[in-house]
Amino acid sequence: MPELPEVETIKSELAPCIVGHCITGVTLFWDRIVRQPSLEEFCSCIIGQKIIGIGRRGKYLILNLSSGKVLIIHLKMSGSLLLKPALAEPDKFVRAIIHLDGEVDLHFRDPRKFGVMWLVYDKDTVVGKLGPEPLEAGFTPQLLAKLLKNRTAPIKALLCDQGFVAGIGNMYADEALFAARIHPLRPGGKLSSEEIRRLYNAIQQVLWLAIGCKGASVDTYFRPGGELGTAHFQFQVAHRLSGKFCPVCGTTIERIPIRNRGSYFCPKCQPQF
Ligand SMILES: [Zn+2]
Repeated sequence: MPELPEVETIKSELAPCIVGHCITGVTLFWDRIVRQPSLEEFCSCIIGQKIIGIGRRGKYLILNLSSGKVLIIHLKMSGSLLLKPALAEPDKFVRAIIHLDGEVDLHFRDPRKFGVMWLVYDKDTVVGKLGPEPLEAGFTPQLLAKLLKNRTAPIKALLCDQGFVAGIGNMYADEALFAARIHPLRPGGKLSSEEIRRLYNAIQQVLWLAIGCKGASVDTYFRPGGELGTAHFQFQVAHRLSGKFCPVCGTTIERIPIRNRGSYFCPKCQPQF
């Protein structure tokens, strides 16, 4: 699933190609991709709108339109937004095309069909309950400590909880916990202040590194131009099949399920007790 670094890359690479352009039409191949409003209203309200800005909140892309409405896109498990020449033939996994007035169209490609779009006035009706942005100045070790206080859930589950902190998912939670040498099942509220400081630094480090690599193409993620990201080549534990070795100590990486997601960690570098 695209996480913060992937969505941030998509935002940065789409911006110069779509901001300032008008939406001239929408073609939908999968109606359920529009969550809100009705299909008719979605199409009639979006046509003729100019895209005046693009932002990101957590894993959501937010396109500001000239009407004052916002088009919010979540790529979910397998979505990509691809810039294609106008009138290019869509492949079989393209669920929607946003036609623009320039030379490119935006193809929403989504093999697993979980991706969603909303067209709303108030973005907070969609993204208002998200936790803090981990790369913004307001996210500090002190804030992380405050958020963790008295939390009994495993730290891995908290990091993946979008209401706790926005944008981190399975891959970057595993990477941050490995870099911070914290076992994924440790209860959030039991971390020492030293461990919280390490975790804060690890979150910054893994997310910025992945943004620098334009995201991780472990599954179906493509950058808007169709290129792959390379962040997965930097992964220490995430997405390793069990049986690979810890790059630090050589111990076999283990995989355990936490809230139905596989978590990879080194049992020696990340002791549980
Ligand atoms: Zn190790």
